[in-house]
Amino acid sequence: MPIIGFFMVPFKPPRLLTQAYKVKLKIKLLYVFLLDVVACSRHFEKMDFELVNYMEYALHSAEIAGNRGEVPVGAVVVDSKTGRIVATNGNQMLGRHDPTAHAEMLAIRAATNMVGSQRLVDCDLYVTLEPCPMCAAAISLARIRRLYFGAFDPKGGGVEHGPRIYDHSTCNHKPEVYGGIGEKAAAELLKSFFVSRR
Ligand SMILES: [Zn+2]
Repeated sequence: MPIIGFFMVPFKPPRLLTQAYKVKLKIKLLYVFLLDVVACSRHFEKMDFELVNYMEYALHSAEIAGNRGEVPVGAVVVDSKTGRIVATNGNQMLGRHDPTAHAEMLAIRAATNMVGSQRLVDCDLYVTLEPCPMCAAAISLARIRRLYFGAFDPKGGGVEHGPRIYDHSTCNHKPEVYGGIGEKAAAELLKSFFVSRR
């Protein structure tokens, strides 16, 4: 016997699969695959439902802001662990005489007050419009987990446009970003607001 034979794994003859066993195996694999498909679709349905729900809430805050004469943008902070809405607000720059009173800033402030911490580690932020550079930076400072936004803002946005705050190496916390959630409704609300003001 050669020396390496000592280390060799004993040879195992391949198992001969009968035709019936092969068919049984295929049915089993198909069954497992279908279970996976059902589980995945259910998961995504649930996820879609939650996304749309929170974004609709943000849109509602945006509408309220629009009724006050503010640019209709709304934001919602959600605790991702419990699914509860921690805070929501719409733009209030005119009402508060404050150029920084954007929906995201107000929602973040209210949420940090509610949580009792300057960080919202397990929270997600839903906002109807792509955040401006100031809000994008505040979202990073608040350690928001995920950012979902509706309409893209090529002129004033700071996430996918302009300074792209999260692309900088100096940005310490980059939230996961999902843009275009409920984009159409958010964009239409803004469009009708600006048309009515002409
Ligand atoms: Zn902003």
